[in-house]
Amino acid sequence: VGNDALGHPAASVAPTTQARTVLRPLPHDAVRLGSEGWLGRWQRLNRTATIPHCLEQLEVAGAIGNLRRVLDPEVGPRRNMLFSDSDLYKTLEAIGWELGDDRHDDADPLAAAFEAITALVAAAQEPDGYINSYWGRDGRPRWSDIRDGHELYCAGHLLQAGVAAARNGDDRLLEVGRAFADLLVERFGAPDAEAVPGHPEVEMALVELWRHTGTAAYLDLARSMIDRRGRRWLGEGRFGAAYYIDHTPIRDQSEVTGHAVRQLYLLCGATDVAIETGDAELLSAVERLWEDAYTKKTYVTGGQGSRHRDESFGDPYELPSDRAYNETCAGIASVMWNWRLLLATGKRRYADEMERALYNAAAVGLSEDGTHFFYSNPLQMRAHHDGSTEDSPSTRLPWYGCACCPPNLARLGASVHHHVATVTSRSLQLQLFTPGRVEADLADGTVVLDVETDYPWHATVSVTVVEAPGSPWELAVRRPGWCARAEMSVPGNPGPAHERDGYLVAERAWQAGDTAVVTLDLEPRWVGAHPAVDATRGCVAVVRGPIVYCLEDHDQESGVDLDDLAVDRSVAPEAHERDGIIVLTGRGTTGAAADWHGTLYGSDPGPAPAGREVRWTAIPYYRWANHGENAMRVWLPVASRASEVAGAPAP
Ligand SMILES: [Zn+2]
Repeated sequence: VGNDALGHPAASVAPTTQARTVLRPLPHDAVRLGSEGWLGRWQRLNRTATIPHCLEQLEVAGAIGNLRRVLDPEVGPRRNMLFSDSDLYKTLEAIGWELGDDRHDDADPLAAAFEAITALVAAAQEPDGYINSYWGRDGRPRWSDIRDGHELYCAGHLLQAGVAAARNGDDRLLEVGRAFADLLVERFGAPDAEAVPGHPEVEMALVELWRHTGTAAYLDLARSMIDRRGRRWLGEGRFGAAYYIDHTPIRDQSEVTGHAVRQLYLLCGATDVAIETGDAELLSAVERLWEDAYTKKTYVTGGQGSRHRDESFGDPYELPSDRAYNETCAGIASVMWNWRLLLATGKRRYADEMERALYNAAAVGLSEDGTHFFYSNPLQMRAHHDGSTEDSPSTRLPWYGCACCPPNLARLGASVHHHVATVTSRSLQLQLFTPGRVEADLADGTVVLDVETDYPWHATVSVTVVEAPGSPWELAVRRPGWCARAEMSVPGNPGPAHERDGYLVAERAWQAGDTAVVTLDLEPRWVGAHPAVDATRGCVAVVRGPIVYCLEDHDQESGVDLDDLAVDRSVAPEAHERDGIIVLTGRGTTGAAADWHGTLYGSDPGPAPAGREVRWTAIPYYRWANHGENAMRVWLPVASRASEVAGAPAP
């Protein structure tokens, strides 16, 4: 179990053969990312910089010491957050995807770390399977705070780490996890057990453990935790039942609400349960909540959860730029949830949102050097921001007191190649565009493809068939929803490709050496927001392909104040190569702000006069804050032009 018929290890989300999905994921080792591509560079940086950095910080911050202390109280006092075990498990999951893997030749130091920490975790496990460095000791009984104690959350991350390593051939952590999962089934599996975890996460972990081991009790427990939720069993807590998404059953829920990461993890688990149990009602509830999230409560970057106070979704259209919370973990959870929905339904919109979150909301969490992180991700940073707390720092920090995000990025980076392609019996769908090799088993035989592209910077994606069965099969390439025009040429058929449901498709008896060339439209585009998003009214964002751009102070001409810049959207932005990426430049004005004489409010001065013409430079949003503290903005006021001042409608 856990491997396919030919022995390939399964990927991070591996629905069983009886699961109701439209698309199937490829095995863990089916996609090799070319090291020159965006995804491949990230995966290498993750392996060489981010994961080693996480290991170091887990030691410095005490997460590893907390487990040592379980074995030897003389080690000293417990340190850090009560859920620090989960930071450790997420890092182990990241290494799990790198283990024993001939994708790379430099994974060995990670294997040694995995070995040592797994031995520590196993030693810290109690005879009945329980393991937690905070609960069950020091006068804190097990399960005495299911709402806020994160015990089941930590358990979930242990199970996911165990599954990752086991899929790569190392079962030791899986065995630790299974013993704990068996205890969870005993403790929470009874039909009259009411408990639901305060922080969802264990649900999707239990489903994946079931997928890997075939032990049905794990799926049953995940399903009952989903179904029990919403009866206010957890009480109100500090922020109310909706914070825990325990205010109404998920099947009746009409809006995403509460703590964004909890909501999104719960939806991942619910999607998994719906797929595996063929629960169409649950899947339709999940899709309904997706509609709410992505039509009313998502930033242009794909970030989610606007409120700092309780890390929650706001009201519909409550999407302020400067106080955007947008936890990096929520961006990662968006990738996870959309991937599950893509498999379940085959609908392109889920691949589009997965891509948007990946390149923007998740990627912005990581520095260029791979060792500094954002937890919250505003879309505007003012020049004199007080960045002295980790709640909203002015620049990325090497670690956090609440360190959920860095190791979450590490596990996504290590498994990001899982999201590149999907299959049905006679079709292969390219969902993300990256140089590399894709290998898939279709009904009639193995397909091997070499993909060449410099996406997201350049518009061409060449797919060369290396190996194929002689019989016809279909190559399907996603035309992203933002891409107005796309073409696919195939040998002997230069005409426009057939398009079906957002995918360019060509079915034929492909021969080795055949190349399909896809050209996407990467012209920079102005994006506006629904007028109900008051915070961005009168502004535009500039986007190219899947990449959202921002203006950073230090890239601008001298004398340009970001708080006083307006862009001229009648002039199309120009793309330029710089340091291996594409930056955009355009025209605008500055210096038009009226003099407010030191006051905050006064009589309306009317339309601003035309300011001085300037040229602005924009960089990808995910790259901001890599060169010191700096003002930044994504949403840009539109310059008044004579015609607009006179009351004519804007173009
Ligand atoms: Zn986080």
